[in-house]
Amino acid sequence: MNDSDSELSSPLLTPDGNEAVERCPICKRLNSPGACDTCDHFFGSYWDGEIIWSNQFEEFSHEWEALGALVEEVTQSLGKSWTEFVKLTKTGISTAKLNALDPSDCSASSALMELVDFDSGPVIVTDGMLSGEGSSLYLKNANVIEETISAIRSIRKKVEALGSAT
Ligand SMILES: [Zn+2]
Repeated sequence: MNDSDSELSSPLLTPDGNEAVERCPICKRLNSPGACDTCDHFFGSYWDGEIIWSNQFEEFSHEWEALGALVEEVTQSLGKSWTEFVKLTKTGISTAKLNALDPSDCSASSALMELVDFDSGPVIVTDGMLSGEGSSLYLKNANVIEETISAIRSIRKKVEALGSAT
């Protein structure tokens, strides 16, 4: 099967009448993320290394940064490392994956890209003033984000308890 690039070279419209930029890789709906006109699989955009246009990402990012600050503080006061905290918490996320993502020096965008298996839309490259490169992120099962956020939260609770026990 050919991909949708050639098909999209003539202007196609989304079901809501906006000019379509891409198709959802999951349900094939024509989407226009810039017009906020997408199917429910659309999660956000990954643009120049940052996740943008995503409400759920804000929540994750908030949680991740709180964990990062806490880990930094507690590793200093307790002399423990991130991997030791990971070992103590059962999260459903692979330990090896988490070990590689110390929240005190890994951005929320790169962490979520590692933790969640997104489907990507076509890569878009722009030049000029707002030049950059990126693609849309799609997710078949939105619960994955909630699960990831609650896993991060449970690690934070664990680290918090350790920190206050001293
Ligand atoms: Zn879809």
